[in-house]
Amino acid sequence: MNPSILDFTQEELERLFPPKFRAKQIYNWIYQHHIENFMEMENLPKKLRSELAERYRLSPLEIVRKEQSSDGSIKYLFQLEDGHTVESVLLKMKDEEYDDSGELLHHAKYTVCVSSQVGCKVGCAFCLTAKGGFVRNLSAGEIVGQVLEIKRDNNIASNRRVNIVYMGMGEPLDNLDNLAKAIRIFSSENGLSISPKRQTVSTSGISTKIKKLGEMELGVQLAISLHAVDDELREKLIPMNKAYNIASIIQAVKEFPVNTRKRVMFEYLVIKDVNDDVNSAKRLIKLLEGIKAKVNLIYFNPYPGTDFERPTEESMRRFQEYLLKRGVLCTIRESKGIDISAACGQLREQEMTI
Ligand code: SAH
Ligand code: SF4
Repeated sequence: MNPSILDFTQEELERLFPPKFRAKQIYNWIYQHHIENFMEMENLPKKLRSELAERYRLSPLEIVRKEQSSDGSIKYLFQLEDGHTVESVLLKMKDEEYDDSGELLHHAKYTVCVSSQVGCKVGCAFCLTAKGGFVRNLSAGEIVGQVLEIKRDNNIASNRRVNIVYMGMGEPLDNLDNLAKAIRIFSSENGLSISPKRQTVSTSGISTKIKKLGEMELGVQLAISLHAVDDELREKLIPMNKAYNIASIIQAVKEFPVNTRKRVMFEYLVIKDVNDDVNSAKRLIKLLEGIKAKVNLIYFNPYPGTDFERPTEESMRRFQEYLLKRGVLCTIRESKGIDISAACGQLREQEMTI
């Protein structure tokens, strides 16, 4: 099968199709004009257009299902060339606003949550993606394609930049090479122009890979899925914690090059009667000492067959207030898309059981 053109960085295309400006033109057509066919690349010689069409596919995935939530977020199920499926979510973080005369004050703000693998090897006890096991890594083009297709599907103007969070299915640091390539392709100014500081990599905490990602100096933001403050509980939730314990993760975060104006995000999935107590909040503060951190509390989202339960709103608030009062930034992730199968992995599961 032909490779997808989305798998190539601009530099790679420059080498393949000199002179240099050709790659810029190709990027421009794909990422800014959202073309659907190579023949539409009008300023390219016809011969080159035919050659591209013969050798490459434009998109490595297609939308097979879509669910719209009342809060404006849209969940997508994509099918890959080999029939496997992955999910992405378009989150509308802020609506467009107009003044009294109808003049636009600011555009809507979007974030796309992308998948990095089909399935996942990490096997977290609370995660639906883990249940299906691991199938394969996504290529850089399959990661990039999720954002491109979603922008196209929503007519989001090419100059409207979106933020990216690698919080969909899979463990991004377990697919580091393709992840790094996708980060670079996204950030190309002739392409989607999404600078690395608007891209957040979320990891379950593979300490050695956090170090590697830091050494690559890509300039991305980091989010750690911590979920527990002691190793005993964390091992139960995230088996991989046996190999990469909390201390090793904290150490890796301390060494990670963080943009001076940004913070490392610590995600804390709150599960009823498991980790929602104030004592955990207290220990969390201790763990984060000396780190420019912000904590994001996430409601556990139940699904059929799980023994875990969603925490009460009261315990969420109590946890949050404990941190805030002691000077630790802490937000509660609004249950975006709660009326659509919210957490990643859950739309795909539905599709497979229908
Ligand atoms: N593998 C990476 C990124 C993908 S998981 C990681 O673990 O960080 C993205 C987020 O979805 C994680 O923070 C995870 O805790 C959350 N998640 C998984 N299952 C969930 C569920 N049932 N309810 C709510 N959030 C869930
Ligand atoms: Fe993998 Fe993240 Fe799910 Fe854990 S939470 S199984 S690391 S996708």
